[in-house]
Amino acid sequence: MALLSVSDISVSIGRLTPLDRIAFSIDPGEIVGVVGESGSGKSLTAMAVMGLLPLIGGKISGGSVHFAEFELTTLTEARYRALRGRRVALISQNPMTSLDPVRRVGEQIDQVSMMHLGLGKVEARARSVEMMQQLRIPEAKIVHGNYPHQLSGGMKQRIVIAMALVANPELIIADEPTTALDVTIQAQIIQIMTEMARARNVALMLITHDMGVVAQACDRVVVLYAGRVAEMNTVDAIFADPKHPYTKSLIGCIPVEGLPPGGLKGIAGNVPGVLNYPKGCRFHPRCTRAIARCGDEVPLLRASGAGTVACHLAEVSA
Ligand code: SF4
Repeated sequence: MALLSVSDISVSIGRLTPLDRIAFSIDPGEIVGVVGESGSGKSLTAMAVMGLLPLIGGKISGGSVHFAEFELTTLTEARYRALRGRRVALISQNPMTSLDPVRRVGEQIDQVSMMHLGLGKVEARARSVEMMQQLRIPEAKIVHGNYPHQLSGGMKQRIVIAMALVANPELIIADEPTTALDVTIQAQIIQIMTEMARARNVALMLITHDMGVVAQACDRVVVLYAGRVAEMNTVDAIFADPKHPYTKSLIGCIPVEGLPPGGLKGIAGNVPGVLNYPKGCRFHPRCTRAIARCGDEVPLLRASGAGTVACHLAEVSA
């Protein structure tokens, strides 16, 4: 049974509907990539699951989000607060937005296990140091007493990962966790985070715009475009035989060794803003394979092999 089931959720902010019937699931211990360019709706999906939409004046206007034994769309804020950090944790893009700059990093990890696991100060400190060592933070006992400004970006993000893991959550949502980091350590952070998740059987919803990260880390992938699901399948199937032209384009954006200068294919145009979503398939103004009906009819998400795809071409070939 799925740990997280997102079933046809739509999100409204005022009169706008930036997310339209998003559906996917995550099994216990599974790593699922949620991928798409900026503006695809990845972070909004994360906010919907975390119950944080009211912070931006948004709400779930349709569908359901089921996590473990909870229906999240009807959960009170007090119940949500008990869930966040303890059973569902969030790792954000920029570690500095998660860390208090005037408190020692170790105390910030300690606080999570004191609050959610009821540990005393000494036990919490020992647990934090152990977690930091597992995350390969050198001289963890010393770093425990450091302030965030004394650490590099990569080390700060490891502290944030420690805060996310220390209360043994069942699900971690990592929202582009390496975007703010130097490219040289991005792969290292993804590797440590996914290794830790697998070792502890923690499910991971890994939000990224990088199909290379998906290939490196994930079991399954959900491709979002302009607030809708374009395609969903196992990573092996998506890379072996992508069905949606947008998925193919994203895979074409992965740099490969030996590519001649200028050989990297981009995707012409931009993701439309919520005020300018086109009629029919929202990808049609950028799609090189569009057919006449693409500008009028919304392609429905249909089963395709072990996955699902929303493209008129897939309907024709099914
Ligand atoms: Fe392209 Fe049409 Fe498929 Fe959309 S429905 S991805 S425009 S072929």
